[in-house]
Amino acid sequence: MTDLVLFGAPGAGKGTQAELMNEWLPVPRVSSGDLFRYNLSNNTELGRLAKTFMDRGELVPDDVTVAMVRERLQRPDCATGVILDGFPRTVAQAEALDALLADMGRRVDAVLFIQVSRESLLGRLAGRWTCPTCGAVYHEVFNPERSKGICDVDGAKLFQRQDDTPETQARRIDVYQEQTAPLEQYYRDQSVLVDIDGEQDIAMVQAQIKAAVQAL
Ligand code: ADP
Ligand code: ADP
Repeated sequence: MTDLVLFGAPGAGKGTQAELMNEWLPVPRVSSGDLFRYNLSNNTELGRLAKTFMDRGELVPDDVTVAMVRERLQRPDCATGVILDGFPRTVAQAEALDALLADMGRRVDAVLFIQVSRESLLGRLAGRWTCPTCGAVYHEVFNPERSKGICDVDGAKLFQRQDDTPETQARRIDVYQEQTAPLEQYYRDQSVLVDIDGEQDIAMVQAQIKAAVQAL
């Protein structure tokens, strides 16, 4: 059983690292942002509700978010573990996650805290391009696709997320500082936090994460 949380500010590289971890860790990645975007593109009630918060860079309310993640974690593919990306984002969500895993006889094994300066976060978010079909993430400068504007994996046309405007990016980082950063202490107190230097290049960050997970 391996239950991991990728923790860090918007743009820290959580999605990028989760994707690479899939190559050596056979547990699914569960991204709350992707779950909201999936609901949005299918125009569900949950998607329409989430959109009003996402467009402003604010957090979707805890009860809605927790219910969505709970449903996802109860599916069979999560039976042997999960890599959580973007969840939890508040102390209330972290407490709900602890309770949820405890019900399944599990616990958060490690929280990989990817630390990146605000300046780097803004540079990363500004140059982020995403594949609409497979979710692969690129960066104009730091991790460019092979053929401009086209996903390496499946050839789809890359897009920039609607909530990746300069105003929303800055707001998301502020919201992180206010509501999500307190989780660092929450998880340090549980002795599960592992510090990862997120300023390194993508491969170096991945190597540090792999070493930390293999040492568990
Ligand atoms: P990023 O990759 O930039 O950190 P995400 O894809 O994780 O962004 O999240 C996009 C938006 O989805 C957030 O700004 C927020 O509105 C919503 N969201 C995602 N995860 C959560 C969560 N755990 N709690 C509340 N809102 C969330
Ligand atoms: P998050 O999921 O934490 O919001 P992403 O994985 O979407 O972050 O990464 C944000 C942007 O930064 C993407 O454009 C990605 O290609 C780029 N990126 C990720 N990790 C690094 C890194 N270590 N160095 C430089 N750029 C990175």
